[in-house]
Amino acid sequence: MKFHEYQSKDLLERYGVAVPAGKATSDVKEVTQIAEELGGKVVVKAQVLMGGRGKAGGVKLASSAAEAQQHANEIMGKKLISIQNPEGLTVEKLLVVEQIDIAEEYYLSVLLDRARQKLVVMISAEGGMDIEEVAEKNPEAIVKLHVNPAWGLSDYEVRNAVQQAKIPKQAQNQMVQMIKKLVKAYSENDAELIEINPCALTTDGRLIAADAKVAVDDSALFRYKDLAESASDSYSDPIEAEASNRGIAYVRLDGDIAVIGNGAGLVMCSMDEIKSAGGNPANFLDVGGGAQEDRVISCVDLVMMDKNIKGLFINIFGGITRCDEVAKGILAAFERMNVNIPVVARIEGTAAEEAMELLNGSKIVPEATMQGAAKKIVELSYA
Ligand code: GDP
Ligand code: MN
Repeated sequence: MKFHEYQSKDLLERYGVAVPAGKATSDVKEVTQIAEELGGKVVVKAQVLMGGRGKAGGVKLASSAAEAQQHANEIMGKKLISIQNPEGLTVEKLLVVEQIDIAEEYYLSVLLDRARQKLVVMISAEGGMDIEEVAEKNPEAIVKLHVNPAWGLSDYEVRNAVQQAKIPKQAQNQMVQMIKKLVKAYSENDAELIEINPCALTTDGRLIAADAKVAVDDSALFRYKDLAESASDSYSDPIEAEASNRGIAYVRLDGDIAVIGNGAGLVMCSMDEIKSAGGNPANFLDVGGGAQEDRVISCVDLVMMDKNIKGLFINIFGGITRCDEVAKGILAAFERMNVNIPVVARIEGTAAEEAMELLNGSKIVPEATMQGAAKKIVELSYA
């Protein structure tokens, strides 16, 4: 899950990272007062989970509280569009921060280098703009410092990396300290990414995280009840948000055949089979082990929220999960809901025969093999 900028800054502030003073609000009428409290000279920033908010018109500098209010009125409720988010994200929250006088903009991030099984700190003196562009056109401007999780970081290697990145002398000490704090925050918070862009050097020589992005592993979300008001608040997709509320492992994709299976591996296989049969999966959904009737109802209901779907593929391998329980769940779900799309089920394992018997005579088409079922659902969905 990605945290909003204001949440990311709160987290980093607890580790001693310098961030601009500020306050987030979802009530646009509060902006004048917040801006006044911050001295009037502020930045109004859209809190949406996308990069490039500046270019999209979601970051505005104001020299008075009145101007801040004008910017806020304009940004709140607006749809911000970027290359990564062509559909756009609606602004529902604003962060108002004190405006800092920026002399230079650097880039800092911490992420996982899976191949080397180490954390990697990326440092660049060319921050502010698209770091992807720097990576592409001028890759030597990004210095990578690997961190061995067993040994941690020593000051001298951080200092070397900072010097190698050509960070000016006056900012070097502060950057070494900031990197150590970021690595600590990363390690202690199950983070997947921490990115500071720009890491700003002010005209009076302070190094400040002017923007911050933190993403944590979804499996660690239970630790963040205090930070994210609700996990769903940070999902950009409404169905994924609802799935998170229901505790269902669901990822929305852009296809049109819904998939429900048990076990992440089996679900991924199902998606592959749909692809090779010429279809496009609409989602990943793992019902989990021992799926009971209510759970299945909730899962079917969830995938049906996606109005693009043309068919539903259910693939269950019953080990702990009893297939007849799943079949009852499917039938109950279909009784309650108005399902007007084809459904194909491949059910195998514990009590599979009982399950098939239960489905007999329903509108759910049983298939014996995964490949056969995938072919069938593609055929019926695009008929
Ligand atoms: P992003 O576009 O989503 O990455 O949003 P940022 O928070 O990085 O803001 C975009 C740009 O606005 C930054 O690169 C800065 O140049 C500028 N900016 C943001 N905050 C301030 C500030 O306090 N003072 C000044 N002078 N510029 C700022
Ligand atoms: Mn930024």
